[in-house]
Amino acid sequence: MTSATGAIATPNDLEAYWMPFTANRSFKQNPRMVARAEGMFYYTPEGKPVMDGTAGLWCCNAGHAREPIIHAIQAQARELDYAPSFQYGHPKVFAAAARIAALAPGDLDHVFFAGSGSEAADSALKIALAYWNVSGRGSKTRLIGRERGYHGVGFGGISVGGMVNNRKFFGGLLTGTDHISHTYDREKQAFSKGEPEYGAHFADDLERVVALHDASTIAAVIVEPMAGSTGGLPAPKGYLKRLRELCDKHGILLIFDEVITGFGRLGFAFAAERYGVVPDMITFAKGVTSGTVPMGGVIVRKHIYDAFMNGPDNVIELFHGYTYSGHPLAAAACLATLDIYREEGLFERARAMEPMWADAVMSLKGEPNVVDIRTVGLVGAVDLAPRADGVGKRAFEAMDRLFREEGLMVRTAADTIAFSPPLIITENQVEELIGKLRRAIRAVAN
Ligand code: PLP
Repeated sequence: MTSATGAIATPNDLEAYWMPFTANRSFKQNPRMVARAEGMFYYTPEGKPVMDGTAGLWCCNAGHAREPIIHAIQAQARELDYAPSFQYGHPKVFAAAARIAALAPGDLDHVFFAGSGSEAADSALKIALAYWNVSGRGSKTRLIGRERGYHGVGFGGISVGGMVNNRKFFGGLLTGTDHISHTYDREKQAFSKGEPEYGAHFADDLERVVALHDASTIAAVIVEPMAGSTGGLPAPKGYLKRLRELCDKHGILLIFDEVITGFGRLGFAFAAERYGVVPDMITFAKGVTSGTVPMGGVIVRKHIYDAFMNGPDNVIELFHGYTYSGHPLAAAACLATLDIYREEGLFERARAMEPMWADAVMSLKGEPNVVDIRTVGLVGAVDLAPRADGVGKRAFEAMDRLFREEGLMVRTAADTIAFSPPLIITENQVEELIGKLRRAIRAVAN
């Protein structure tokens, strides 16, 4: 096998890298490698095309190797490769913040930058705690997440997150967290296109948590408008509005984790717009640079920013930040990416394609072992029944087969195959993607 650099890779070459969220030993026996990407496709080191059915890791929304982004990153590296973000600024980070704020609904108009989605989630949780502190309500310290939620892998994120494997190995986690129930009920929601009709009442579980802990102890609730990592579970119709109402009623901050749903995945700049709900904070990452340079952040409403800006002029308002907050290469990549989204109308394109996409994905209903399908925006998720003997996962086998035999990259989570292509996908490519999935689902039937 040849490596990305063209050098011959020996088994030893694969050994040093401890891969994240990967079965390292089996991967290294038979790796799935990509060495190049362009448009809708990855290419293996041998040059075989692999359709990108996942926009990388839910992030390459503009597709790969986009010239304006490449150019912006190269030019930025030459002009200003790095600048400290504490007590110094550079023009592009201010421009990026203004552009992102302009895309966010309501008075979500200030942007705090981080380097990733995990850092964005932890930043939002810390801002929530500090907000109540500077507002004279320091008893509000409890952070509420949701079962099946994913907010990255920082200690804050895994504490409010609801994925057992991401939590159970890591000790007691943050104290003072709790979870509301997830929103999935297969019996009542199976094969829903878009937001399921059933399930707005799952938001009322916040009342249970408030009754248990009292609102005077609760700082914030964080949810994904669509749970991505646990299988593409869209919020039921009316759910997010109800959650907003309950947060208002009890004086609790509402945070939308839009690391996946931001930047067009659901046909809008942010899912908040799709659902007509203005949260107090939005976390973002991934699509903000179309995955090209790591960047994440938190957009906050005016009242939150203002609460911090009341002290003496020369005092640091928030003791939080990262070496790579607002990195010049990320800011340049962000501006070029947002230009592409706007010039090519990619959010609107995703919205316009949603009905065709949903029909195409739903056409997999009736294939062997398919027990549920969900679609929303340009996201599709297919649940396969577990094998009776419990050995192996059909979804994982399908993923591996799709890569090797069909030339398609998808993601798996337990028994779910999830796919979320770049927003530049054409209708023909949608059909091609579904055809590959259909063949793989049939191939792993037994
Ligand atoms: N939040 C959500 C909703 C995510 O889906 C992810 C990653 O998939 C994260 C946070 C973490 O982002 P990162 O992997 O950039 O730390």
